[in-house]
Amino acid sequence: MGTAPKEATAHTRAANAPVELGFDPADFDRASRGLVAQIPDGRIETPYGVVWDMSRYDFIERDSTNPDTVNPSLWRQAQLNGIHGLFEVAPGIWQARGYDISNITFIAGETGWIIVDPLTVEPCAKACLDLANATLGERPVTAVIYTHSHTDHFGGVRGVTTHDDVDAGRCRIIAPVGFMRETIGENVIAGYAMIRRAMYQFGPLLPAGPRTHVDCGLGKAIPFWPPGLIAPSEEITETGTELVVDGVRIVFQLTPEAEAPAEMNFFFPDHGWLCTAENCTHNMHNLVPIRGALVRDSLKWSKYCGELLELFGDRIELMFASHHWPRWGNADVVQYLTLQRDLYRWVHDQTMRLANHGYNATEIAEMLTMPPEFRAEAHTVGYYGHLAHNIKAVYQRYLSWYDGNPANLWKLPPVDAGRRYVEAIGGVDALLASARRSFDAGDYRWVVELLNHLVFADPTNTEARELQADAFEQIGYQCESATFRNAYLMGAQELRNGCLPRTPAGRHGYLDAMTPEQLFDTLAVKLNADAVGGLSVRINFTFTDLGEQWVLGLANRALHAVPGRHDPAAEVTITTTKPVLYKVIEGGVPFADAIAAAIADGTVVAQGDVAAAERIFGHLDTFLSNFPLVEP
Ligand SMILES: [Zn+2]
Repeated sequence: MGTAPKEATAHTRAANAPVELGFDPADFDRASRGLVAQIPDGRIETPYGVVWDMSRYDFIERDSTNPDTVNPSLWRQAQLNGIHGLFEVAPGIWQARGYDISNITFIAGETGWIIVDPLTVEPCAKACLDLANATLGERPVTAVIYTHSHTDHFGGVRGVTTHDDVDAGRCRIIAPVGFMRETIGENVIAGYAMIRRAMYQFGPLLPAGPRTHVDCGLGKAIPFWPPGLIAPSEEITETGTELVVDGVRIVFQLTPEAEAPAEMNFFFPDHGWLCTAENCTHNMHNLVPIRGALVRDSLKWSKYCGELLELFGDRIELMFASHHWPRWGNADVVQYLTLQRDLYRWVHDQTMRLANHGYNATEIAEMLTMPPEFRAEAHTVGYYGHLAHNIKAVYQRYLSWYDGNPANLWKLPPVDAGRRYVEAIGGVDALLASARRSFDAGDYRWVVELLNHLVFADPTNTEARELQADAFEQIGYQCESATFRNAYLMGAQELRNGCLPRTPAGRHGYLDAMTPEQLFDTLAVKLNADAVGGLSVRINFTFTDLGEQWVLGLANRALHAVPGRHDPAAEVTITTTKPVLYKVIEGGVPFADAIAAAIADGTVVAQGDVAAAERIFGHLDTFLSNFPLVEP
């Protein structure tokens, strides 16, 4: 099979022809303003390998026009996201940008650094702190603010502070209410699937290049390193809360269920600085990401932007966020926030207007196009989100995935449908011939729908896989949304070259933050119900590290967990710590061996019939990474 990406077709060349976009050229000044230092080549290394390397993207030159394999508007965003360095935003506030998908912000407090969002991973956060200390003078980190519950805003915290400093009160960690619950809750039960789907959203397995990866829309790329977490020492529970953090006054606005389930904007009243977290960045964001997540509330999102204007509008001198570049000047920021407010409201209201006229999500996604108000400014363009996808998210939030037509209510799964479609169309050759005609006509969206049936009916059909890959690729080349581009190009890459090997997938990075309830919920979705018919058991747990008691029970092929007590009739009582239990479950050895070893080394004390616990722990599935997405 051909393995290399192909050139743009005539249709794609025409679609991607360089155009005058008419976007504000001042974005390049904003993204470059105040540069004080850079990490050479934007390269961050550890003894274990390269974590970040901006030089991979040197082909995206500042003043170049787009190659025919990249959408011209996305190319501009990729140029902007390629600007990296430590920048002075205003006296007393600096940002390091372009060293992770997100930004890290340094604010000079009375005695040390107040850090907003310590990036995704420790090496990137540490490299940026080192750069700030070396350039601006060494300061201790006295506070960290997590703007929200997404990994790229806390995962690097161990690069800027330590558990000890937080426990000793030398460093405050401030987060929005519900941060810990939502950090884990959003992706723990679906985590294994979400990580795999995220590979398509961000494209980390695509090489950098004009025919492959150019950007993520929200930032350049995601770094290669496991994230970490230190729990917040305090939570903001109310809009209007004012804190003095290392001598700096900050007023908070909570924005739950907008960009993240736990998130907050905040304002510095003595300076006129506004941090919009990830609620307002320089693109139209996702109302549901293509990696999958709980759908977001675009109505609330818009109203928070409005509330922000009411609370602070007349006092804002500059705004900064945890992605992209800042903006300066009251009039400019107010105009920006107003358009952001109206964007999320427009998507919401117009989707529901048409839904109430009886159109379904797929139809609405084709009926609505971005009006000129939102096409006039790059910060409302879907480089990360995508209008069609966001419309479906709004519809889904109110009306579910189902469009109301019973023909779509109970569909055959892809392989069964695929075989029947291939037959109905007149066989493999007829389908391929039709697909090829449509490909030649540039009707790529139809090609991928048609060929999907054949690939699922017969994934060994090389001609079908190659043509499907070619069609994915041309769509990807034309996409303005980086996440859509990455998804299509990943699909093409895997059809041509196959997936990476499937290995047991873990969620180790989140263990520290998981509650026993979340741990048991994660465990429960691994239970192989076919294997536990007729079995029941009750297991008491005492977690000595948490001071908690739980009962975990199996009945009717399902688990249930009860906090706060033991069951006197339980078959076994296990006394241990949460990490040991996790290791016993996820350690990759049979439960009987793991529990025996833990009992032997004293990390588990069991009273009663230990073997009875096998009824649960002996019947847990192992999830594998790299499951197929574009083939059965
Ligand atoms: Zn983010």
